[in-house]
Amino acid sequence: MLKKRQNRSFRPGFYPKLLQIRRLIRGFISCFRPRFKILAYHSLNHVSRDPYEVKAEVFEEQIGFLAEERYKVVGLEEAVRIMAKGIIRDKTVVITFDDGFASLSDFAFPVLKNFDFPATVFLPFNYIGGIDAFSYDKPRPDMPVLGWADIEDSTKYGIVYGSHTMSHRNLAELDDTELSFELSESKNILKRRLGLDFYALAYPFGMFDERVKQVVRDAGYDCALCFGNILSNTKSTDVFEMKREKILNSTSLDDFADLIDVRKDSIRKIRDIIRRALIINA
Ligand SMILES: [Zn+2]
Repeated sequence: MLKKRQNRSFRPGFYPKLLQIRRLIRGFISCFRPRFKILAYHSLNHVSRDPYEVKAEVFEEQIGFLAEERYKVVGLEEAVRIMAKGIIRDKTVVITFDDGFASLSDFAFPVLKNFDFPATVFLPFNYIGGIDAFSYDKPRPDMPVLGWADIEDSTKYGIVYGSHTMSHRNLAELDDTELSFELSESKNILKRRLGLDFYALAYPFGMFDERVKQVVRDAGYDCALCFGNILSNTKSTDVFEMKREKILNSTSLDDFADLIDVRKDSIRKIRDIIRRALIINA
């Protein structure tokens, strides 16, 4: 009898299956952890066919929706603090913008100021006061980047800045010297020019690897943001891999309501877990 039981325990594939089941249980438990969403916008004026350009009136509608539905919009620094302590309240949202386009000062900052919502803008420092020559193969003269006057003025009403590096290149493709320069130089500007002591980074194109993450940590950053969606940002999230939801020109108000609702994430995740459990048992 004993011999028979031992044979069953050691049959090939038993332990991998056990590990998979343990992973599924952990995934299931994680569905009920408190968490929050970080929104990632780019430009707002919608002068081109770029899917990352959100119409100004749509942005205003989305920010109004957050206020109407009583979402708690917090700054990134506060979000990192509450994440570490695990005291994340329901309906917590962080607003961020990548690339620092000049359209923000006309269309985003006044709306945020009106609702008294904080936000973080990630700047590619080589292009301050210039044009977008970093997003696509061809420069875009009709897409200017914020200048220092607008940047400094906006800090008076809750806009905080972070690093989007100096050159906005894919950090995973840089050698160690270039990588260190991109991170340390941009952090120095945040410190000296803007007087900051909380250092946030948005990986250009959302791209990074373990080496990049280690250099970001070593350079003294407090957090780093990429892209991602389901079950983003719980107490156990790696602070150098915080997930953001991209808000696109195609994001309707219904889509927006869905993607900021973390309860819907739980349903999607549980569905995924059940599907995978069925595969394991098949
Ligand atoms: Zn970018």
